[in-house]
Parts: sequence; structure tokens; C-alpha cells
Amino acid sequence: MPIATTNPATGQVLKSYDAMSDEQVDAAIERADLAFQQLRGTTIAQRGRWLVAAADRLEAERDETARLMTTEMGKTYAAAKAEVTKCATACRFYAAHAPEMLADEPADAEAVTARRAFVRYQPIGPVLAVMPWNFPLWQVMRFAAPALMAGNTGLLKHASNVPQTALYLEDLFRRAGFGEGAFSTLLVGSEAVDRILSDPRVRAATLTGSERAGRSIAQIAGRELKKTVLELGGSDPFVVMPSADLDRAAEVATTARCQNNGQSCIAAKRFIVHTDVFDAFAERFAANMAALRVGDPMDERTDVGPLASAGGRDEVHAQVQDAVDHGATVLCGGELPAGEGWFYPPTVVTDLTPQMRMWSEEVFGPVAGLYRVSSYDEAIEVANGTSFGLGSNAWTTDPAEQERFATDLDAGNVFINGMTTSYPELPFGGVKNSGYGRELSAIGMREFCNTKTVWVG
Ligand code: NAP
Repeated sequence: MPIATTNPATGQVLKSYDAMSDEQVDAAIERADLAFQQLRGTTIAQRGRWLVAAADRLEAERDETARLMTTEMGKTYAAAKAEVTKCATACRFYAAHAPEMLADEPADAEAVTARRAFVRYQPIGPVLAVMPWNFPLWQVMRFAAPALMAGNTGLLKHASNVPQTALYLEDLFRRAGFGEGAFSTLLVGSEAVDRILSDPRVRAATLTGSERAGRSIAQIAGRELKKTVLELGGSDPFVVMPSADLDRAAEVATTARCQNNGQSCIAAKRFIVHTDVFDAFAERFAANMAALRVGDPMDERTDVGPLASAGGRDEVHAQVQDAVDHGATVLCGGELPAGEGWFYPPTVVTDLTPQMRMWSEEVFGPVAGLYRVSSYDEAIEVANGTSFGLGSNAWTTDPAEQERFATDLDAGNVFINGMTTSYPELPFGGVKNSGYGRELSAIGMREFCNTKTVWVG
């Protein structure tokens, strides 16, 4: 894949970059290692001040940064501005809470026959972050903010279609005060990852991306005995039970499916609806989806911009076509629009069967699959009948049913009467083929710490 900014609304290549040479990459790894030796010696308070400075700059530069993201990957300008703000919030959160998250944790000294025993959290060194284009600032920030606060340094291999956002991130942390090499962008293709992760100075890797990339990075890391956190794909269920507020559920379902032009790992993708309310929900949901305005992502009235790449749009349309060819019914959308840009209409497809690709694959675009079920047990069976397990949503006002969904949904996140989203306060991650490990909260920060046991006799 070329390293270039290509505007998905027009298909025009705006800026291209040469990939860094092996020598340039080695020099960046060396700088990251030297920066680690310095950063680990700084105080948490100092690192917190730098992170607050990064938040200040993000807020001051919100509009131009948002415009850059919209130009590189097509999300609406409004969504891009919200993403910048969310990143600033995460920086402030970690600056404020890292001291308590990284504080020594006393243990029961008597039980372990010590005078004193405790757990100390320490940084481990340069961490490679392989990141996707869909939330080009946020995906990086949710790794970088806790990692830098803990005293680690970061090497970013961002997706090849968002090089300018990647370079902005390096510049942001440098200007915020983190030293040279504390956070570096490597402009390289995915084929360079093996060599980088094999370097002994690189201590661990985090990937947010596809299952395919996850398998590849886990294999390299396994060979090199290095820790990984993998945030991979999802095909989240959105279950609607008879007691649900249908208007609200249909409204949130529309946002949950079409946020980020339908290209979110935690977008609700499979809508599993109890037969008692199926028709009423389907009618409302399809009407909401059809009413969304598709168009120029810079236009404030636009709800859904283009997909990020021509290949991504071809794939989504092929999945819809495959369902139609096998007998599915399209309630709205499903037609490839003419004209420039990689737009795709919000689409609702029903009468799905296991023979169809949509049944088992992740659909990375504004396309919803609608499933009819006749009981709680059947809803759980369909919801969990996927190789993924990232987020999940259930709509019910029955407290006993809410409890059961919280336990029975096989996913890293369960959201009842709301859509799955990420908060710095809550751990985020998946099970099954959606990956392992967690980001955010104290748990995410400690993924790249040495959890050191100290025993004093
Ligand atoms: P992708 O192809 O896996 O790309 C993600 C990153 O991995 C890019 O930097 C890419 O580099 C790199 N990469 C790709 N193949 C690789 C390989 N074999 N070895 C090493 N690195 C590799 O993913 P995508 O299609 O762009 O992104 C969408 C996927 O990410 C979806 O499945 C989505 O659900 C998932 N995602 C998950 C989360 C989560 O939190 N769980 C969040 C967002 C997205 P190049 O760009 O140079 O190819």
C-alpha cells in the first residue's frame, strides 16, 4: 500500500511519502531506546504536565487537525472534531489519575512472612504501536497517553493512508515537552513490522486492526517472546427485546451502525430483534437509516461521508450482493452510487442465512443485518454465534433480563440500553477473534508495565 493521503470524497491523491529506509528506522528505534532511559527517570508529575500540554495543544488545534483527518479518511468534520476533543480528555484523565494507578500497592506482609511487601508498576521500554486509519487520532492516543505516563516510549507504525495524522502525533508530543524520540512515527509499510518487532530494543507491541494483521503480529511476537495487546475486528450484536423503548433503540441503532461512516470496530453490525417487536423495530430502523444524509464530509449537514478506500467500498458492496444473490431482502440502500468518491448508502438487509458472507463476516461500512428471533435463548445463540467478541448491546427494561445479558453475552463489553463506546475510565478490549488484552483505565495502562513484586524481609 502506498504511503499517501488520498481524499476519499474525491479519490484524489494529495500527498505521497517514501517509506523510511531500514537505517532510518534503526535510528528511530535507537532514539526511542535512549529516550526511554531518560523518560523512566522523570517524575509522574512531570510527565503529567507534558500530557496536559498535549491536551492544551489538541484543543487549540482542534479544527485544523479535524480537517486533516476528514481529508485523509473521510469521517465527517463534526465526528473528527469530537475525536480530537476525546483525545484531549484522555490526556487529562491519565495526567490526573496515573499517580494513583501507578502507586505502589501494599500486600499483606504478614501472610508472606515479610516486614514489607508490595507491587510496583514500572515501564518496560519502547513499545511498537501498529494502528488503523478509522479513528486515526483516538486509536493512537488511547495507547500513547497511558504508555507515556507510565514512562514507556512509543514507535508508531500508522496505517499507510493517514501519514499526515501520524506525523502530527509525533510533532504533538514533541511540542508538548516529551523529549526527542519519546514518541516517533515510522513511515513504513506493514512488511517492515517483522524487522521492527524483532529488534531487541523494542519490548512489546500493540495492534489495533484486522484479524489477519493480529495473527501476523502475534506470530512474530510469539517467536520473539514479546508481549502484545491485540484490538481486532468485531461484528457486534444489538439485541432488541419486547420491553425495549423501540423509538430510542431504533435511533441509537442508526447511530451505532453508521458512526464513522460505518467503519468502527464497535459499531453494532447485527441487529437481533424479538419477533414480537421485529416489524415495528425494522420499520423505524430502516426509515432512520434511509433518512441519513450521505455526502461531503466537510458539510455540517452530512451524516455519512465516504468509505476510506475504494477497496473497502468494493468489499462492503460485494458482501451485500452476496446476501442478495442468496435470497436476502434489502429494506433500504444497497445500490452503488455513481460519481466520484467512495460513498455507500446506509443499508438494511434482512432474511439472512448462514450461507451468506454477512452472517459470519465483519461488514466495515454502513450496512446492517437484521435477524428475527423468538426467545431470549435464541437471541443469545445468534448474538454469540460469531468468531468475534468485541462489543455488544442489549435493549430491555426488564432488570432480570439485563442481568442475564451481562453474563451471557460473550464479548469484552456489554452495553445495556445504549451503544458500545470507549471511555478512559473503563477497560476496553475483546475476546475470541476480537483479540486479547485491554486498553484504557488502570488495566490498560498496566498492560505495558512490569508488575514487580517486592518482598522485604
Ligand atoms: P488492517 O489492514 O489490519 O490495518 C491496521 C494496521 O495494521 C495498519 O497500520 C496496517 O498497515 C497494519 N497491517 C496490516 N496488515 C499487517 C500485517 N500483516 N502485519 C503487520 N501490520 C499489518 O486493518 P484495517 O482494515 O485498516 O482496519 C479495520 C480493521 O480494524 C477492522 O477489522 C476493525 O474492526 C479493526 N479495528 C479494531 C479496533 C478495536 O479496538 N478492536 C478498532 C478499530 C479498528 P498498512 O496500512 O500499511 O497496511
